[in-house]
Amino acid sequence: MFTPIYGPVTSWRYGTSLGIDLIGEVSTCSFDCAYCQLGEIERKTQQRQIFVPTSTVIDALQDYAPWDLDVITFSGSGEPTLAENLGEAIAAVKEITQKPVIVLSNATLLNNADVRAALNQADRVSLKLDAPNPDLLRRINRPVSGLSWQQILDGLHRFRRDYPGIVDIQTMLLTPWTAAEETAYQELVEQLQPQEIQLNTPTRPKPIGHQLDGRGNHSSGDRPYAVRQLKSVSREVLQDFATRLQAAIAIPVRYAPAPH
Ligand code: SF4
Repeated sequence: MFTPIYGPVTSWRYGTSLGIDLIGEVSTCSFDCAYCQLGEIERKTQQRQIFVPTSTVIDALQDYAPWDLDVITFSGSGEPTLAENLGEAIAAVKEITQKPVIVLSNATLLNNADVRAALNQADRVSLKLDAPNPDLLRRINRPVSGLSWQQILDGLHRFRRDYPGIVDIQTMLLTPWTAAEETAYQELVEQLQPQEIQLNTPTRPKPIGHQLDGRGNHSSGDRPYAVRQLKSVSREVLQDFATRLQAAIAIPVRYAPAPH
């Protein structure tokens, strides 16, 4: 049964985090990433709407009081900025829990002023940037039609200019990048100047269909549904890229620890 709250989960990036899912039972996103832990995205769209009313979130949140957590994270069954009530829900959750709020976003809707206003309510936003060129975007993130790489970059720059909170860039590597791709990425993050860069690689097989437990941390054990293996880079490749990047730029670079 669907509930808009999940976890708490332990995140290598943010500590103990309670997840909030404003998207609902049908996975919904403007991307259909090759590595998505939700399985193949069921509803691919850029259209915003209210999926889960804010009152439903507020009611469910009471079960987790007194919220002994580091942060509250808006993520879940798809792209949280597609939820038209995102700003309202963030404000309500902050007021009730008095905890910092993070939004994990794929950065595809940042050209929309309403989306930027909603994200302004959050303390921290972690923005996906997996593709230093349009070809990688098409192959890794598989965006809905009409969504271009340049449009996403424009939104990232626009958001970065005005957002008063902390901005992180999260990047998933499925294969080692070429030198040209690394250089292009370095230039992009230097322009964006996030507070932190977070590098990762898939460590778990991808569910074939949507499973609600895709919202949180999977255990490393068997899962009772069909999955398929994903491409990933070794810990050494991830670490070497992080080291090269860190030597070249003044922005802190972190990479995911090995799973246990
Ligand atoms: S942006 Fe996130 S939710 Fe959307 S397809 Fe990619 S990994 Fe899945």
